[in-house]
Amino acid sequence: MKVFKFGGASINSIERIQNIAKIVRSYSNEKIFIIISAMGKTTNALEKVVEAFFAGKKDEALALFTQLKEEHLTVASNLQLPTSNLQLNDLFTEVEWLLHDKPVREYDYYYDQIVCLGELLSTAIVSDYFNTVDINNSWVDVRDIVRTDDNFRDATIDWAFTTQQVERNIVPLFEKNNIIITQGFIGATDENESTTLGREGSDYSAAVFANILNAESQTIWKDVEGVMNADPKKFPDAQFIDVLSYREVIEMAFYGATVIHPKTIKPLQNKDIPLHVRCFLKPELKGTIISNDPVHNLPPIIVVKEDQVVMQLNSKDFSFVEDHLVSQLHDLFVEIKIRPNISQNGAISLLCCLDNRSDKIEKLALKASELFDVQIEKGLTLLTIRHYNNETVNKLTGNRKIVLEQKTEEIIQLILK
Ligand code: ASP
Ligand code: MG
Repeated sequence: MKVFKFGGASINSIERIQNIAKIVRSYSNEKIFIIISAMGKTTNALEKVVEAFFAGKKDEALALFTQLKEEHLTVASNLQLPTSNLQLNDLFTEVEWLLHDKPVREYDYYYDQIVCLGELLSTAIVSDYFNTVDINNSWVDVRDIVRTDDNFRDATIDWAFTTQQVERNIVPLFEKNNIIITQGFIGATDENESTTLGREGSDYSAAVFANILNAESQTIWKDVEGVMNADPKKFPDAQFIDVLSYREVIEMAFYGATVIHPKTIKPLQNKDIPLHVRCFLKPELKGTIISNDPVHNLPPIIVVKEDQVVMQLNSKDFSFVEDHLVSQLHDLFVEIKIRPNISQNGAISLLCCLDNRSDKIEKLALKASELFDVQIEKGLTLLTIRHYNNETVNKLTGNRKIVLEQKTEEIIQLILK
């Protein structure tokens, strides 16, 4: 049994939906569990609906929603699916009745009730389309399977309950059909409220299913050849990497590479399930294979994070930065839920580099100013290079001013102005 995950770009046109049918068909007689993201930019569009609804702009929310609804109906009709398709209409209604209400609960709750629709619609369309081209499949509402807590927008999966549901409801379905289609990124609480697992969470959902179903492999189908050593949009000469280890991918994700959702690796690694990253436009290519095997001779792996803030914390009146101050600062990070990307301790000052989340930075600066004199510099770049060499470092830093440099044998990190 294999697990496939198709991202939003893989189904953002009629041709692409037809293309994934072709890919799936080429695995005839194999059991495949398929997770599909919301179409194209649907999730972003649904976020706009939530914003309008929560701001009390009911008409705007409904208008934005109607637009999305029409886009999905157009896709369905271009694929020659019956437009009286009951499933799509039921799904629209679920959100529509909510939009007619007034918000009385917290933002994140409404976010999840509305945003979860993107994957429900896309999977319903693909499932119906597969049926019309004789790829027999079962469509599953994943909210009946994936149980989470009620930490809306960043819900945590209840593995025990979810495992039980998979065994009871998914495993028997494979006796009926070889193909099961469902949603990533979403789940539900024990009160049947929809939840989401964090943006781009479908890779992670796929890994959870791969783990529970003991899949032989997971494949993430993307619009790139595989994993590259740098973001090809920023570095046109980025190199393709054919094999990687779980460890390397976790490190890349930790430092901010956006190739694969950071939570994806652990469920796979725990059961030694290889992860393939392949191109849906060129399925004849092998793509990148990620597994437990250590990999040597990797090219420099480059991760760039823009919009960084450096906070310098100087001890008041020139006294040493004692341990209790450092530990109080760490407590603040935990309290405010912000993690420094780099930190460095000196005799009378501490320095940390953070993502520019202005609400959190302000809070942190305010609280930290009870302990330190605080200085902030914004608009910086954090450059991380794993397996670096001098040539790459020089090329990437150029004439820019280096605010801070930290390195070990394996990795160098530079904050650049
Ligand atoms: N549709 C969701 C998002 O765009 C989840 C995903 O695609 O992984 O964030
Ligand atoms: Mg996506």
